[in-house]
Amino acid sequence: MDSNRLKNCTICGRLFLQVHTDHCLDCYKNIEQDYERVSEFLKNDQNRMATIAEVTEATGVSSKRMTEFIREGRIFADDYPNLGYACSRCGKMIKKQLLCNTCFDDFATDVNRVLKSEKVTDSMVQKQQPRKERGYWHVKNSK
Ligand SMILES: [Zn+2]
Ligand SMILES: [Zn+2]
Repeated sequence: MDSNRLKNCTICGRLFLQVHTDHCLDCYKNIEQDYERVSEFLKNDQNRMATIAEVTEATGVSSKRMTEFIREGRIFADDYPNLGYACSRCGKMIKKQLLCNTCFDDFATDVNRVLKSEKVTDSMVQKQQPRKERGYWHVKNSK
């Protein structure tokens, strides 16, 4: 077995063999069920104006997962005027990415500045990472 493809599920933390996703099959099924429920709910014309809070209440799907669906583009939020989530910086309602356009521009400027000043540190971190990962799996597998 190729141990490079063994990963911890990003949702439940269990070790699984990575094929396409960052989570295990159980969590994958769970997400698909949630998605089905949400898309059934949104298919109904009456629910076109629903907010995330309303969808969460009607379907039991967490707002965090709703946000993921929208961010991944699985739910096309542009079709639903009130469906969106808060920009992580200013809280304005957005329908894609993590930040609204204004904050993203600010952020990009900041990142560029930081990248320029931290180039040396960055190359050091990259050199260390592969060694750390191998050690981690070694410990895991020997259990
Ligand atoms: Zn899982
Ligand atoms: Zn913003």
